[in-house]
Amino acid sequence: MAQRLGKTVICTECHAALARQGRVKRSFLGFGRYSCPQCGKEFKSPLPRSYIVTYWIAAVGIPVGCVVMGVQSSVEDLGDFASLAEVGIVYICIIIALVRDASLKKKVRHAWQEHERKATDIPQQSTQA
Ligand SMILES: [Zn+2]
Repeated sequence: MAQRLGKTVICTECHAALARQGRVKRSFLGFGRYSCPQCGKEFKSPLPRSYIVTYWIAAVGIPVGCVVMGVQSSVEDLGDFASLAEVGIVYICIIIALVRDASLKKKVRHAWQEHERKATDIPQQSTQA
């Protein structure tokens, strides 16, 4: 289990455990992007905790903010559709990121299981368990 700690990522395509090197490339939504030297495919890693916290704060804060602003503003002020659309797009991105993160975590968990299963499949030379 020690390999899960520290700077190890797992390829969700071929289940190879890889040492993370240098700066992590990040996608638009903050997912780590890697290319696997084993299978040559690209794979993503789940969001770092700081991103998840930020996204959750926004996911809860944006609707609350909209309601508060809606209550405070008079009827004439409610016509600002441009900014409303912008907030909507950002909000959709946040929800997509959180949903993708959840499914990626599932994939990563599965990849580790496969990785460990494969590792135990290799005939042991030593008597060590
Ligand atoms: Zn791979």
